[in-house]
Amino acid sequence: MPAKKPSLYENVQKQFAKAADLMQLDSDIRRILATTQNEIVVHFPVKMDDGRVEVFSGYRVQHNNTLGPFKGGLRFHPSVSIDEVRALATWMTWKSAIANIPLGGAKGGIQIDPAKYSLRELEGITRRFTYALGDTIGPEYDIPAPDVNTNGQIMAWVLDTYLSTVPPLERQRSVHVVTGKPIEAGGSVGRDKATAQGLLYCVQQWAAARRFKLKGATCFVQGFGNVGSWSGRLLQSAGAKLLAVEDHTGAIAAAKGLDALALAQYVAKTHGVAGFPGAKAIDHPTFLRTKADLFVPAALENQLTAETAPLLNVKLVAEGANGPTDPDADAILRERGIDLIPDILCNSGGVIVSYFEWLQNKRSEAWELEEVDTKLKRLITSACCRVADVAREFDIDSRTAAYIVALRRLATVYKERGIFP
Ligand code: NAD
Repeated sequence: MPAKKPSLYENVQKQFAKAADLMQLDSDIRRILATTQNEIVVHFPVKMDDGRVEVFSGYRVQHNNTLGPFKGGLRFHPSVSIDEVRALATWMTWKSAIANIPLGGAKGGIQIDPAKYSLRELEGITRRFTYALGDTIGPEYDIPAPDVNTNGQIMAWVLDTYLSTVPPLERQRSVHVVTGKPIEAGGSVGRDKATAQGLLYCVQQWAAARRFKLKGATCFVQGFGNVGSWSGRLLQSAGAKLLAVEDHTGAIAAAKGLDALALAQYVAKTHGVAGFPGAKAIDHPTFLRTKADLFVPAALENQLTAETAPLLNVKLVAEGANGPTDPDADAILRERGIDLIPDILCNSGGVIVSYFEWLQNKRSEAWELEEVDTKLKRLITSACCRVADVAREFDIDSRTAAYIVALRRLATVYKERGIFP
């Protein structure tokens, strides 16, 4: 993967400006939405297993809460920076607006490589970070969720720390301070696969519009964590063959297809796809050149650039990751006739089911998987239709169309409510 990454927030601003120009977004609303509302930077000490104290840097950026409480994941990665978190927070606002759910946009993270720490140290880091955030998060104000290198266990620690710091009366009614929790700690069934499930519904919608059959189709996936492994598994259950997979340990391929479930079980033990029996190792350019119907980037951002987009040999890019395609690559894909389902639509299944988890907690309910999947399908499929309608209306690419759907909704609410005072 390329080492140098352009500023992610610059990419967001370019995407935003393109849509705002095209739809002639009101200039006051444009200035408001081009800015993040709150940016919280915390530095906090944690005692390591050997008795030393390390100081960590954590971020929470709250972009906009016009449509509802701030909502967005927590990422633990060495690349986490204020620029990256601003970009990710802004995308969250658009995502909830497109999906028509009453939530705003936020994102957070800690600049660490979690693989370097013991479980006990990670728990300490998570708890001190949550404590440092204090009441800048809250069940009706800002609700974190999992993202890269964070999972249900981390969310359970965030929950427990938050609950330990609020008055006893608040504890029973604050379990929705975080989503993506383990089921036993108040999580929702279907949240683990939700992002990929939503991606599959988007791909099915794309396929139906083109009379394309997923059964017998071919795909390859970058990233084999939560989003990548579930995407591989669900696309495989829909009849597609998984030709290649890449993660931080390397890329592998098998012409006869990789068994996504067996690979997920292998990765759970070895922490990487490298060495998966029956697959051959390939290099990064060969991976990107895989001839297939679908490519699912589900790792990190800026993977498709002016250098790498020309290598693709696919019909569709379905963005599981946030920001995998930079603006240069967007133009190249469009020129080359490669369709794209943009991240702010394609991976919104995660925030949609997080919203369901939040609702279930507030109502003391536990929905069945069928109910979760049916409601997710309904919301994300109608979001796909709204984006397709706007793409036709303006004769534009799907990313800009998705932005216009989001910005129209936000602009309407700003106009109705006005600006205080
Ligand atoms: P994860 O930590 O579970 O998995 C990340 C994957 O990326 C791992 O397989 C890792 O090996 C791979 N990866 C890391 N560095 C890589 C590299 N240099 N080259 C190739 N692969 C590399 O994270 P996740 O939750 O699956 O998130 C993946 C993407 O999806 C992120 O962009 C995230 O923001 C986005 N996303 C996640 C959710 C969610 O619900 N988890 C929701 C929406 C969007």
